[in-house]
Amino acid sequence: MRSRAAALDAADPLAGFRDRFLPAPGVVAYLDGNSLGRPVATVPERLDAFVRGAWGEGLIRGWTAAEDPWMSWPERVGDRIAAAALGAAPGQTVLADSTTVLLYKLARAAVDDGLAAGRDEIVFETNDFPTDRYVLEGIAAERWARLRPIETDPAAGVTPEQVAAAVGPRTALALFSHVAYRSGWVADGAAITALVHDAGGRVLWDLSHSVGSVPLELDAWGADLAVGCTYKYLCGGPGSPAFGYVARAHHDRLRQPVQGWMGRHDPFTMGPGYVPAAGVRGVVSGTPPVLAAVPLLAGLDLLEEAGIDAVRAKSRALTAYALDLVDAWLAPRGVDLVSPRDPERRGGHLTIRRPGFRAVLDGLWARGVIPDYREPDGIRLGLAPLSTSFTEVHDGLAVLRDLLDEPG
Ligand SMILES: *Cc1c(COP(=O)(O)O)cnc(C)c1O
Repeated sequence: MRSRAAALDAADPLAGFRDRFLPAPGVVAYLDGNSLGRPVATVPERLDAFVRGAWGEGLIRGWTAAEDPWMSWPERVGDRIAAAALGAAPGQTVLADSTTVLLYKLARAAVDDGLAAGRDEIVFETNDFPTDRYVLEGIAAERWARLRPIETDPAAGVTPEQVAAAVGPRTALALFSHVAYRSGWVADGAAITALVHDAGGRVLWDLSHSVGSVPLELDAWGADLAVGCTYKYLCGGPGSPAFGYVARAHHDRLRQPVQGWMGRHDPFTMGPGYVPAAGVRGVVSGTPPVLAAVPLLAGLDLLEEAGIDAVRAKSRALTAYALDLVDAWLAPRGVDLVSPRDPERRGGHLTIRRPGFRAVLDGLWARGVIPDYREPDGIRLGLAPLSTSFTEVHDGLAVLRDLLDEPG
């Protein structure tokens, strides 16, 4: 099995990217790149140069500098994410806030617009990431909207058939994750978007576990709204800002509720009354998170160089290889796969389950194997294509196999 991993590494066109991340001494296998991407090796220098130069010497002039003004980072970094990973034309994506806050802002915008047209239901799925569910609960409470949950299979995810049965003339908004955070299920973005539209509703996609891993076609789907994290596959670093996408068709119509000066047209006139900036800039509320975006630029450089299709191809190969090891080594030891086997529906991570896995996690960490844990009893294997080798997957799962044979 290890020789097969070595052969896969030798044939991997993206293998060289692994050395472009900072080393992590003592780590045998980092299997959590889908929760927190590793830092690109140039990040320390880039941060240092930014602090000394653009900030230290440029000072407040940085906001409006002739070259690379910080004021326009939300749109410019947003456009880079859109081109590299979202399948979205420029002028529809901004970098801002956190994913949770952007979820609130964009979901509220769509719900308010739906309510004005007599639509009062918000469709979501019961196994979605907690923050998504909580944000919708809050919006439903403050706007007197009704939540319409879809019960999904936790080992899979939301299907077009389930969406078709849930949407209707009362649907204002449907919110789904494109890749499910537990199972890694890839939802059918095009089909689901079309179904929500047929019912007259709008759809908001959470792309946190897709962006930089599974190619997206937001414009081709006709998606209305989307949000996502940049600290997962995009390697922006802990707490790096989120991105939000608003389809051009909605720019003059949807109004997000956090009306701040940085999303106002002509913010420096400081005049009375809020008038949203034209285009997607109106999604911005306060001062752009410039310093926090510097590491992300290094992550985007790598993604642009590798190309999202090559990333997806390697991601599929990594999860296929991990699946083989799960079947050969772990299934006989009582481990269940709770992720899709179908490569079309399988995202960049796999979740495996066994009673008592929580206790195994400490042993894994002590041996330098770092996956993620998700209640109940789930170990999540996140395989970030740019920074993970096949040998690493082999070595990490071998440690897990051996731990399961140790007397508890
Ligand atoms: C990681 C993740 C988030 C995180 O939101 P934050 O505001 O960054 O904490 C939200 N939604 C999904 C689906 C996620 O996977």
